Amino acid sequence: MKTKAMAGKKCALVIHGGAGTISPEEMTPEMERDLRAGLQRSLDAGRAILKNGGSSLDAVTAAVRVLEDDPLFNAGRGAVFTSAATHEMDAAIMDGRTLRAGAVGAVAHVKNPINLARAVMEKSPHVMLAGNGAEDFARELGLEIVDDEYFSTAQRWQALERVRAARTEALSEADRHGTVGAVALDEAGNLAAATSTGGNTNKRPGRVGDSPLIGAGTYANNKTCAVSATGAGEFFMRAVATHDLSALMEYGGMNLGEAARVVIDKVGALGGTGGLIAVDREGNIALPFNTTGMYRGSIDAEGRSFVGIYQ
Ligand code: ASP
Repeated sequence: MKTKAMAGKKCALVIHGGAGTISPEEMTPEMERDLRAGLQRSLDAGRAILKNGGSSLDAVTAAVRVLEDDPLFNAGRGAVFTSAATHEMDAAIMDGRTLRAGAVGAVAHVKNPINLARAVMEKSPHVMLAGNGAEDFARELGLEIVDDEYFSTAQRWQALERVRAARTEALSEADRHGTVGAVALDEAGNLAAATSTGGNTNKRPGRVGDSPLIGAGTYANNKTCAVSATGAGEFFMRAVATHDLSALMEYGGMNLGEAARVVIDKVGALGGTGGLIAVDREGNIALPFNTTGMYRGSIDAEGRSFVGIYQ
C-alpha cells in the first residue's frame, strides 16, 4: 500500500542540539530563551525548504548550518576546545534515497563543516576526508575558511578550564554536550540525516567521534529511517547505533519507536549516555535519550511544532 508520504503529501523534520546533564537549576532564563530561539531558527530554516517542496537533504543541511552558526551549540562557531586549546570538528550527511554519504573528521578552519561534508558526498568520489586534506578540499571548492579564533567562545574556554582543573578527560556531560543534528522526510518521500560537532571538551587532538561515522552517529535509508545521534561518541561507535536502528526496522520488523528505544538501551547497557533523533518514511518521529535533557525540536507530519530541553 502506498503511504501518504510516498504519495508526496507528508514531510517532517527533527533536530537536536546535544544531550547531557541539563537541569533547570543550572540554566538562567536568558540562556534557556536563547537556546530555544536557536532551536526554533533551525526548525524554521528546515521547514522553509520542506514546505516549498525542497529536498530533505537541503532541509537538514540548512537546519544544521543554523546551529553551527549559533555560538551556544557545540558545532561550528560554538565548538568546544581540545586539550591543546584548539578546535577540531566532525560532520556527516547521508542521502536516504541513494545511500550516498559525505563526512569530514578533525577539521579546524572550515566555518561550516556540514557544507564540506555535503561537498565530499557530491563533489568527490569519497565518503570521508579528514584533517588537512579535508581543509585543502574546502579551499579548492572556495568554501568559507576562518581562523581558529572564530570558534573561541568564553563559555567553551571556561568549560576547558573546569575540565583541566578536575584533571579528567571530561568533567561532566554538562561541560561537553552539544553536537547538533537534523533528520528530515520530504514531500517526495526521501529521507536525509546530518550531524555536526565539536566533539568533547579536552579531547585529545586527532580524536574523531561517532558523528561523522556513517552508521554510528549518522545514517539514512529510504527503506527505513534517518537518524542522528548525540552523546558519548565512543559508545555510539561501539553500538553502531544509527545503522543498528535502521537494521532493526529493515530486518527485525520493528517500528521506529521500538527500534529507537532498543538502540538507546543498548548504548546505555554499554555505559553510554546520550540520545538520538529519527524519522521514518511515513513521517513518524522518535527522540529518545537516557540523559536528563536533550536540546531538541520537531515538526511532525501533521505540521505540529515542538521545542524541548528537559525530560
Ligand atoms: N557524540 C559527540 C562526540 O562524541 C559528542 C556529543 O554528542 O556530545 O563527538
